Amino acid sequence: MRCLFCKIIEKEIPSKTVYEDERILAFEDINPQAPIHTLVIPKKHISRSLDISNDDNELIGQLFHVANKIAKDRGVAERGFRLVMNCNREAGQTVFHLHLHLLAGRIMHWPPG
Ligand code: AMP
Ligand code: ZN
Repeated sequence: MRCLFCKIIEKEIPSKTVYEDERILAFEDINPQAPIHTLVIPKKHISRSLDISNDDNELIGQLFHVANKIAKDRGVAERGFRLVMNCNREAGQTVFHLHLHLLAGRIMHWPPG
């Protein structure tokens, strides 16, 4: 499976890397919806949150740890930040490789649109 984000992981498509380790990549969203808009993704191709298996539990934990680290490093952890994961069409998922949106740097509205 070689989707858009798999190609970003393999550096076939350029992105602005924010964080990288063996299992996780974080990069800037190309169409930012907030002053900070970073995508945190597993290097393993998982299409949607519905496709997360028990084998992925540790990996999913790592996604959140990386998002927290980025929020702290950028100085927004205490002000606040939003983590979003869209699943399927009505939620607005457009790229079918699991990704956590980290949004911060402005007041967030609730309920989300
Ligand atoms: P979603 O709508 O939840 O599937 O989110 C997909 C996100 O990927 C959107 O916020 C897009 O702006 C972002 N995106 C699409 N293509 C790229 C790219 N080449 N580099 C960085 N972000 C991208
Ligand atoms: Zn992929």
